[in-house]
Formats: sequence, C-alpha cells, structure tokens
Amino acid sequence: MHELIIRNVNLVDGRCGQDVLIGAGRIVDVGRALDARAARTLDGGGNLLSPPFVDAHFHMDSTLTYGMPRVNDSGTLLEGIALWGELKPTLAQDAIVERALAYCDWAVAKGLLAIRSHVDVCDSRLLAVEALIDVRMRVKPYLDLQLVAFPQDGVLRTPGTLANLRRALSLGVDVVGGIPHFERTMADGAESVRILCELAADDGRLVDMHCDETDDPMSRHIETLAYWTQRLGLHGRVTGSHLTSMHSMDNYYVSKLIPLIREAQVSAVANPLINITIQGRHDTYPKRRGMTRVPELIDAGVTVAFGHDCVMDPWYALGCGDMLEVASMGLHVAQMTSAAGMRAAFDAVTVGPAQILHLDGYGIAPGCRADCVLLQARDPVEAIRLRAARLAVVRAGVIVAESPPATATLRIDGRPAHVDWNLRPMQPS
Ligand SMILES: [Zn+2]
Repeated sequence: MHELIIRNVNLVDGRCGQDVLIGAGRIVDVGRALDARAARTLDGGGNLLSPPFVDAHFHMDSTLTYGMPRVNDSGTLLEGIALWGELKPTLAQDAIVERALAYCDWAVAKGLLAIRSHVDVCDSRLLAVEALIDVRMRVKPYLDLQLVAFPQDGVLRTPGTLANLRRALSLGVDVVGGIPHFERTMADGAESVRILCELAADDGRLVDMHCDETDDPMSRHIETLAYWTQRLGLHGRVTGSHLTSMHSMDNYYVSKLIPLIREAQVSAVANPLINITIQGRHDTYPKRRGMTRVPELIDAGVTVAFGHDCVMDPWYALGCGDMLEVASMGLHVAQMTSAAGMRAAFDAVTVGPAQILHLDGYGIAPGCRADCVLLQARDPVEAIRLRAARLAVVRAGVIVAESPPATATLRIDGRPAHVDWNLRPMQPS
C-alpha cells in the first residue's frame, strides 16, 4: 500500500486530470486514472500541482528584525547595512533561531520548501552561523535550508573576515559568498572575486555572490565573476545575485557581457521586491526600476531565479514568504507580460532556483522526491494572478500544511453566492 495518491490535478507542463502516486517519500507514478490504492487520497479538484517553491536568495539571520533598533528611513542599501551593523552586536543566538524558525513556518505554509540563505560571517563570534546551522538541522524534515557564507561588510574591507568565512565553511556552511561592489575599490572588488572563486574551486564549493547591487553602470564585477568561473572550471556552480547595475549598463557592453555569463554557465538571481524599492534612490525622474535584465538573460539561456531576499528586516518592511508575490513583482518590473514571459516568471520561483541550489530529485515525475504544493489555480499564470491559496503542501509524501480555499460570500440583493476566482478561461499555453 502506498502512502498517498493525489487525484485529478493539472501539472505545470499543461497536462490535465493527472493522478500522482506517492510511496516511501518518492513519486511512484503519474498518469490519468491510475489503478492504485494508497493509505490516503487527496482530491486535487482539477487544481494545479506544482513542485514546491524555492527561494534562491534570502537572509534568515536578519529576518523579522524590522524596527530593531530603528526603521530604515532613507530606504537605501547603505542605511540598511549601517542599521544591521548597529543591530549585530546585540543579537542573541536563541533569538536568531526563534525568528528563523518562525519564518520557516511561514515558508512551509506558503509551499516554500527550499531556501538558500546568506548568513553574515563578519561578526567573529559567528553567532548567526551557529544559529542557522542549528535551524538547518531542526527544519530538515520539512524544509531544505542551504547556507552561504556572506561577508556583508566586505571580505577585504573588514579585517579578519576571510578567516571568519573559512571558519564558517568548516563549521558546515555550504556555499561561498561575496560582495565585491562593497569593497573599497573596483580593484579590491575584483580581487575579492578571484580570492573567493579560488577558495570555492579548492574546496569543491558552490559560489553565490551579491554582485553589482548598485545603480552604477561601471560596477562590472559580474564580468570578473564570469571570467574566474570559466578560468577555474566552475561552470554551472556559480551564481551572481542582484546584478542590478546591468540595468543601467551601456547596451553595447551588455551585448558582450551576457554571452560571457552564458559561456561560464553563471546563474542570475534577481530580487524584484527589494530591487524595485532599494535601487534608484538617488534618481529624480525618470527613476530606474533597478532590476537586472531578466528577459534578456533568459533568452540567452542563462538560468534565472527570482528571490525574496528580505522579509521584515533593515532593508524591507514587508513580505510573508509568498514566492507568488515575488514572481508577480518580477513579472511586472521586467514587463514579462507575454504568455511565455508569465510562465517564465513561475519557473523563476520553482525550477530555476532548484537548479541553482543543485536540488536533488526536484519535480513531479516518477522517482522525484514527493515534495509538492496544491494551488487553488488551474495553471501557473492563474496561480500568480491570484497568489493562489496553498490548499495542501506535501513534503516527502506527508501533508505538512493546509489552507482553506480563498472564497467570499456575496450578500447582494439577498442572494448569498460564493465568488469563483477561477472563472477566467485557461491561459494560452
Ligand atoms: Zn541579499
């Protein structure tokens, strides 16, 4: 007897009326009207069953600290970094753990079952590192947490940080991080990219750098990141996060840059909620949108993800772990309004980040891990449009969260009626 069968669901690839059979934490079979029994049956009701949402870029050490010790008035990246610097010495390990666990609960409820979180390694006590390693272990049954050693104040700019970063990796942090645009000079930024990529190559690590998170079109560390990636043979193992300066770069230069990114198989993570609010703060009008060139990167064959980046912290006051909100913002900022563009926005919070995290067995197919989310929508575009309710969230074949369908009862002319949010015709595929 299998554990679970989910009947009558639509899949992201457009197949309708499918059943998904689950056993021993894996997907056993997918097909129409499967002749199978399981201990539990879940009626999919013709809704969309998607692999879980994946967030390729988050900061779990700072999440839910909004207003501590005060609010970021200017809304800039630099005031956020300064504020975080004030807060860091006062952080207690158990409080970091408590906030991170609270956020993981939100994530699971929203069908977000894998998160790559940067963790600041500049505080030599490495409190946040120890806290998030503890959290990673505690949430493992229901959420994959991948950690990046992130030198928030600059690996060269801040004495002792490279040693801290190495120590964080030896304690169990997974990925090498960086922040070249925050080093003192462009030259130091480039040098930091070399040092960190060499460290990753020597140690067999993935790399994910905050890269060119600035409106300065001359911030070109992504070029250096692509260079060292191909030079060291790190193809497919390196991610450039933010890349916002690409928004303001000269088109001719970008026509050379994007093929270099593609050649090195460097992935890109845009963080639309944060980019649209933090960038362009020195502009009057016209005011830049501040997000990297997402459609152009996708067209060139670069793996792209939309990340959440922040929830209620020194950089961003809002958010609740809803990757459909992230996809919606990304779609709007990048004007990805074609049918293919909207589908690509859904991929940027599911398969794209799954590739970036090198997640194993991701997808709705026989042999994949039985992780999925049943959305109150019939297709990915409808899911984005409605920020669809997560009717059921499944981890390794076990239902770990459920939400009631979004509904409302109308009381007009004395005729009670339920609103059907899904009335619109299916989106063209
Ligand atoms: Zn970040």
